[in-house]
This record gives sequence, C-alpha cells and structure tokens, in this order.
Amino acid sequence: MAKPADTRTANRKPARGTRTAAETEKIRAALAARRDELRGEYDQTLSEITELQRERLTDSAGDDQADTGTKTLEREQEISLANGILERITQVERALERLDQGNYGWCERCGDPIPVERLAAFPSATLCVKCKQLEERR
Ligand SMILES: [Zn+2]
Repeated sequence: MAKPADTRTANRKPARGTRTAAETEKIRAALAARRDELRGEYDQTLSEITELQRERLTDSAGDDQADTGTKTLEREQEISLANGILERITQVERALERLDQGNYGWCERCGDPIPVERLAAFPSATLCVKCKQLEERR
C-alpha cells in the first residue's frame, strides 16, 4: 500500500479546519445582530440629519457666510457618517453571503477559524488575531 500523498505540498492554500453547524449558526446570529444594530444606528443618524437640517432652515435668518459654511460642513460630516454606517452594513451582508457559501470566517494566512467574537466586531476581518498582529508588526 502506497503512503497517502503529502497534502502539505499538494495544497498551496492553507488547509481549512471544519466548523460545526452550531458554530456557523453562532456566527450567523452574531452577524445578523450586528447588521440590525448598524441599521438602527443608520436610521438614527438619518433622523438626526433630518432634524438638524430642519433646525438649520428655521434658524438661518441671521446667518452670515461663515455660519452657512459651518452648517454645510456639518451636514457633509453627518452624511459621510451615515455613508460609513451604510458601508459597514454592506460588509456584514456580504459576510453573511460568504458564510452561506462556506468561505467566510477562515484566516487567509494560516487557515485557522477566526473567533466568532472577532467576526462579530469586525465582519470584514480576513485574518485571525495572531496573523493580524504579525502583519501589523511588519
Ligand atoms: Zn491566522
């Protein structure tokens, strides 16, 4: 009987471990919770923008150019904040899609599963904490 081929040389990509269905569910739940949280944050930011915009309109009678400039800047900052949240929502949604396809949550460097807590905090994480630290040290 021939010895089984050495998989270390056959695979260029790091071998992936396995996750149990329960773990996958845990990740899904964490991601879904994160998405809901971000959506809440987004809705709140939008209503704040609307509210502030209304205040600015009713309170703009005595404005000089500087005031108008400040208000425009504030508004731009709020909109970019809202867009930032929207981007994070998209990231979480993509993560959920990849999770369904079975290629989410593995470290790109060492192939280890990335801890659920880390994925919940950083849905776009592609490295485990250990590898991330190694990357940052370089
Ligand atoms: Zn790693």
